[in-house]
Amino acid sequence: MQDTQAPQAAPDSTAADSGLEHRINLLEFTLPELKDWLAGLGHPAFRAVQLWQWIWQHMARDFDNMSNISKALRQQLKEIACISWPEVDRIQVSSDGTTKFLLRLADNERIETVLIPSTSREGNVRWTQCLSTQVGCAMGCTFCSTGTMGFTRNMTMGEILSQILVARDYLHDTRPQWPILRNLVFMGMGEPLLNYRELERALRALNENAGLNFSPRRITVSTCGIRKGLQELGESGLAFLAISLHAPTQELRQKLMPGAARWPLEDLIATLNSYPLKTRERITFEYLLLGHVNDGPEQARQLIRIVRSVRKSKINLIVYNATPGSPYEAPSEERVLAFEKILWDAGITAVIRKSKGQDIDAACGQLKATALKEEEGAR
Ligand code: SAH
Ligand code: SF4
Repeated sequence: MQDTQAPQAAPDSTAADSGLEHRINLLEFTLPELKDWLAGLGHPAFRAVQLWQWIWQHMARDFDNMSNISKALRQQLKEIACISWPEVDRIQVSSDGTTKFLLRLADNERIETVLIPSTSREGNVRWTQCLSTQVGCAMGCTFCSTGTMGFTRNMTMGEILSQILVARDYLHDTRPQWPILRNLVFMGMGEPLLNYRELERALRALNENAGLNFSPRRITVSTCGIRKGLQELGESGLAFLAISLHAPTQELRQKLMPGAARWPLEDLIATLNSYPLKTRERITFEYLLLGHVNDGPEQARQLIRIVRSVRKSKINLIVYNATPGSPYEAPSEERVLAFEKILWDAGITAVIRKSKGQDIDAACGQLKATALKEEEGAR
């Protein structure tokens, strides 16, 4: 095996009744690992490719219909393996089409994934999926619902990728040559670069032609800035990079993002300047506008200085999606436009990203927070 850690047996919640608990969940194998595992059972490499196609392209969940695989191997697989997806706990569809899933993992932990629609010039609907990488997050950003929940555990590669299976199944997106799920953004729950090992395995699996077939140009990893992980992601070249900046000074960043700010802003900026970029790639800075906290003209001017100091970068301005009980408020439209204008006047490309799905708690961690509150209330 390329990787030494054995995949976990990750049965679904019915596992205890069905005796699945000792079976290996095939979603936890990368393709090279699947080849090695099948070789150990005496099967050639092309069988692994066939099995991989069934799992990731045809989205098979059992072995019965795998028509190009012998009955004997199917039987053997049934005894020792499973293809176990997370359960869908809730789905919420916003008036703008944004669709949010609360998924239940094998150990009953819950995570969120969001599908965001956009319409192409030809009028076709395409989707971007926002993926989670951890249950909770240790970074404690004060505006983020996930951050205020704290950290529970890392997600495995299979758990990360199974979010895509659930979404493709929901969208009936079954033609790999004409996918309607076009882009992936790692902007859900958790800090992807603090789960780099499983993130990288997931990114490598995404790249396989015979599987989900997402090139690195269709994937963006968003991070609050983790030194080691940034270096590793840059070297891998497996995705585009977005940096959650949210504050233009170290002082304000310490208040908004205490965990991330342990790495000084100055060092983060210096590292970004030596980050290996792909052709035509620019680093995206995400800047969440919080009313009367970081949305004033002074911060806009400070932000200009930062962006100018990083070669090849651009800004996404995100309007804060207010969360009940949060100390922050959404900025007024006036302030958002004034902030944007200062950037534009300085010749800086900034795009306002309206938070989609505001009526369904679509920001990171919000649906889980709402579900937990409702359940507490019902007890
Ligand atoms: N941990 C990584 C990846 C995901 S964080 C990172 O911080 O980049 C999730 C994203 O959702 C971040 O960009 C964060 O700024 C945004 N977010 C969190 N709470 C939000 C809210 N209430 N409204 C709008 N965006 C929010
Ligand atoms: Fe973690 Fe990102 Fe939320 Fe900060 S914004 S707490 S890094 S998930």
